[in-house]
Amino acid sequence: MGPSPRRGSLDFVIQKHRARALHYDFRLEIGGVLASWSVPKGPTLQAGVRRLAMPTEDHPREYGRFEGVLPRSSGSGVVMLWDLGGYNPEVETSKGVRTEVAANADAVAESELKAGMLKFTLYGSKLRGSFALVRTGGIGGRDAWLLIKHKDRFCAPAYEAGDYDFSALTGRSMAQISAEGGGAPSTTLS
Ligand code: MN
Repeated sequence: MGPSPRRGSLDFVIQKHRARALHYDFRLEIGGVLASWSVPKGPTLQAGVRRLAMPTEDHPREYGRFEGVLPRSSGSGVVMLWDLGGYNPEVETSKGVRTEVAANADAVAESELKAGMLKFTLYGSKLRGSFALVRTGGIGGRDAWLLIKHKDRFCAPAYEAGDYDFSALTGRSMAQISAEGGGAPSTTLS
């Protein structure tokens, strides 16, 4: 018995980032890059709770492996690989019924991104189950999106990302990463 094979056709990563303000960079592999949103309060497993998610620039896939201390020239701050794994987009097969798409996942995710309504299943070490990212079209600012956990067996009442201050890759806390640094970023993006 080896480790179970990774599930999910595409990569996702969430980087906890202490810059001027603490936030969580939520990144989904779409079209060969990491489409990215900044989630100030962090993701949650509470069913139906909406978290503001502000779109940020696409990042190269390699950046999704970075954990350490960013130099001032690269945006600065401490970055933790808070969660990572695979994901599959979901399509609504009939009203209220969502089905994961593994084949052709990238094209499905790309068209949902353009439509401003992404639905997907995460296979992370912290986050699992069905989520949505929805463009609001005005609420909370012109470009605001909302990250929402769909109701499923992975929901957890009172779940707050801040209660889980350890790296999915190294187990380190933000304080430990800040003290130890490590891992020069391969890009100059933040
Ligand atoms: Mn950031």
